[in-house]
Amino acid sequence: MTETVLDRFLRYVKVHTTSDRDSKGTPSTERQWTLLRMLADELRALGIADVKTTPHGFVLATLPANVGKKLPTVAFFAHVDTVQDFSGEDVKPIVHRKWNGKPIVLPDDRSQVIDPAKYADMARAVGKDLVTASGTTLLGADDKSGVAVVMTFAAHLLAHPEIPHGPIRLCFNPDEEIGHGVDKLDLAELGADVAYTLDGENPGEVNWETFSGDGAVLTIDGVSTHPGEGRKYKMVSALKLAARLIAALPAENNSPETTDGRQGYIHPTDITGNVAHADVRFILRDHDNDLLKAKGDQLRGLVKGMQAAEPRAKFKLRVTPQYRNMGYWLRDNMMPVDLADEAMRAIGLEPFHQPTRGGTDGSRLTERGLPTPNLFCGAHNSHGPHEYAGVQDMEQSVQMLIALAKLWAEKGAGYKNKKKDSQRPPQVAH
Ligand SMILES: [Zn+2]
Repeated sequence: MTETVLDRFLRYVKVHTTSDRDSKGTPSTERQWTLLRMLADELRALGIADVKTTPHGFVLATLPANVGKKLPTVAFFAHVDTVQDFSGEDVKPIVHRKWNGKPIVLPDDRSQVIDPAKYADMARAVGKDLVTASGTTLLGADDKSGVAVVMTFAAHLLAHPEIPHGPIRLCFNPDEEIGHGVDKLDLAELGADVAYTLDGENPGEVNWETFSGDGAVLTIDGVSTHPGEGRKYKMVSALKLAARLIAALPAENNSPETTDGRQGYIHPTDITGNVAHADVRFILRDHDNDLLKAKGDQLRGLVKGMQAAEPRAKFKLRVTPQYRNMGYWLRDNMMPVDLADEAMRAIGLEPFHQPTRGGTDGSRLTERGLPTPNLFCGAHNSHGPHEYAGVQDMEQSVQMLIALAKLWAEKGAGYKNKKKDSQRPPQVAH
């Protein structure tokens, strides 16, 4: 019961939980079970009676209300998987006590240097305790800091029954990094009225807007002939047409390399092909659904122009929705965000709202009817060897959750989630 958030964090990051975007199963990798089972055992050891592990790798548990009035059920989520872009195996966490603000050379690969000059967020970490990996792996603070925060929060509430709170559900889930973190979660079984993911960075951060995302696949059929007879038999190279289309994409303010803040983009992610046939995949992103649609239209316009210029080839473009900005739902009832702001202030933090340049598990949960903003938990520089966790950030995140639980007990009685049955977002015109 005396284990700290740091103790827990150091244990969790050592468990290899990389997910796999090419796998069809949920969880996408067997190894995620190791941590999921460990967490289920720890919840039982804390004295929680109803811990359940579902066949798809969701660990669910309840902290029953300790106040009499009827209150909404609030769920807290953290994901156990780490991204497959960098090794998450055999992580050796290093604790840097009272970091002196100098570049951190990672011992197992000395070419890996976490340089505060490159990472603006690090200015506020000087003098605090940081945890890094050792150079050959990522750390996995995304999202094991969230896991450690939720677990420590639960342990604290159980040890302090005098802190008033309504019904609370805990959910540790797999596969956030491959975009399928909550597909197989039964929301009726979860039984929450509102939820939060603990998957953000800096103290005070509340994310209630994400990108809306579409995927697009362009197929081009060319005319293949023997190259020696290409001219005579009118070769039309699908590969060259695909290259030409990519080159024709607007570069300024419309690609990941040239945008930030609220600007969206059209981003070709991969291309395969030959003379006869080529496939180009894109992701389209914008916080605004109308501007997202405009990006799809822009791509269609380009394809149409190329089709007109080369009628012997056959172009086909398919645009499909992936996820939607949770802000479209949350704007109707900002109470989950307002109380998160208030919880930040209650522990001396100034809340700030950062529109996320990506989707979160909360995007899908919100779209499915469960409003789910994202809160900070102290992970930084995610998805690579320069990742680090702020120890005091994690501690503040635990304090913030305790304040948030109290606020829901105090003010939540009138909360109604009216969006229960809405499956599709407003204003989607694809
Ligand atoms: Zn994450």
